[in-house]
Amino acid sequence: MTTPPLAELFRKLPSVDEVLRDPSLRDIEETYGRESVAEAARIVLSRLRQEISSALLNEKSLELALSGLSGAIENQLRRESSFSLRPVLNATGVLLHTNLGRAPLSDSAIDHIRESATRYSNLEFDLADGSRGKRDVHVDRLFRRLLASGKTGGDISTVVVNNNAAAVLLVLNTLAEGGEVIVSRGELVEIGGSFRIPDVMAKSGAILREVGTTNRTRVSDYEKAITDKTRLLLRVHRSNFEITGFTEQPSMEELVALARQRGIPLLEDLGSGALFDRRSVGIDGEPAVLDSLHAGVDIVTYSGDKLLGGPQAGLISGRPEFVARIRANSLFRALRVDKLTYAALEATLLAYVRQDHNAIPALRMMRLAKQEIEARAKTLAADITAAGIRAELLDGDSLLGGGAAPSTVLPTRLLAITYAELSAQEVAARLRACDPPIIARIEEGRILLDLRTVFPEQDATLAAALRRIAS
Ligand SMILES: *Cc1c(COP(=O)(O)O)cnc(C)c1O
Repeated sequence: MTTPPLAELFRKLPSVDEVLRDPSLRDIEETYGRESVAEAARIVLSRLRQEISSALLNEKSLELALSGLSGAIENQLRRESSFSLRPVLNATGVLLHTNLGRAPLSDSAIDHIRESATRYSNLEFDLADGSRGKRDVHVDRLFRRLLASGKTGGDISTVVVNNNAAAVLLVLNTLAEGGEVIVSRGELVEIGGSFRIPDVMAKSGAILREVGTTNRTRVSDYEKAITDKTRLLLRVHRSNFEITGFTEQPSMEELVALARQRGIPLLEDLGSGALFDRRSVGIDGEPAVLDSLHAGVDIVTYSGDKLLGGPQAGLISGRPEFVARIRANSLFRALRVDKLTYAALEATLLAYVRQDHNAIPALRMMRLAKQEIEARAKTLAADITAAGIRAELLDGDSLLGGGAAPSTVLPTRLLAITYAELSAQEVAARLRACDPPIIARIEEGRILLDLRTVFPEQDATLAAALRRIAS
């Protein structure tokens, strides 16, 4: 049998109109509408045309494809109308994974979003006198309770913008546009690919004045760089790297003393600002918002979805006179957040006020003891070894991630999985193809699962997926 020329195969393709006459498409049309079905038919036919051109189809396989045309059209429609943003099961042990959406929200945050966003709300309405209100008040009152104390001079204001990058941009623009900002060369960081201190500085209209060297900067370096053009001293937290060895950095107290003496405000970009006592979860090095304010820093900026465990947001907390100027900047209007963010943030902050840290998923995961993780890992291991999968428990580390202290790890028990006939890469790909997709670590040719970041109610889903892959 000779293979027919391509032209003959092309002739076998029906037109869109012909396809649409198929009575088996009537039901699909009811669901998706005639226009969408026609569009899907066009896509499916053009895919077939491409496959013919690339010699992927012969007469037989084309006939088979044509007999399943209505099924292919339905699949196409189903794919298009399903969500692209989907929940995944995070078995990496990276708590604040930027690629996986950072902090998962608490139940009360979701309830508060639903409650206040499915109806009208008093977002900017003063219920006491019926006049226009400010959206900041809903969370500013809670930040005040969490941050204001005798040690911070009793008064701290907070405003919320879209993320910490926006917070840094807004503070620099408000307090230093046209003037100079002094930063240590060791702190000219890049975070998450596109947040670079020199670039943000340029966009803010402030002029970067670098001092010191990559590894050593002294307070005298800052002092010598101060001129009548200086508007701000900036300290940036080294969120995703460390400089070790022959290093020196002025203490916060020294910088505060210099700032006070010369009457220049001091800004600290904390990145992952924590609102809880980090020692309670064994993370020592990560800066806390209160420590900086107590030390006398005038303004701090930090993310809402890192160690705080809330929604994406940029928080600017500090002395009321500075925060008032920041709030009055027209850029604030462009960077402000919506009611969903306020709702999630308010509920998260209320959990802190009530000292209910376990209500916040990221904090609950941080506080999980290694023994608890081990017990769950053992149950899971027993479940899957019965299905012929090799599973071994190992000591390892969970990571904070999201630009939190790089060397700060939490001890955990890892589950190392090997399948007789599949490479780790193949297993990882199959896990990602599960519903929900499962994201694992690969190390030294093995799949490693860290249950710290898996919600306990997901353990059974994870076990079932691992068994299914084996069969
Ligand atoms: C994470 C981080 C940022 C960026 O914060 P986003 O909320 O992601 O915009 C900026 N500065 C530091 C020090 C950070 O750690």
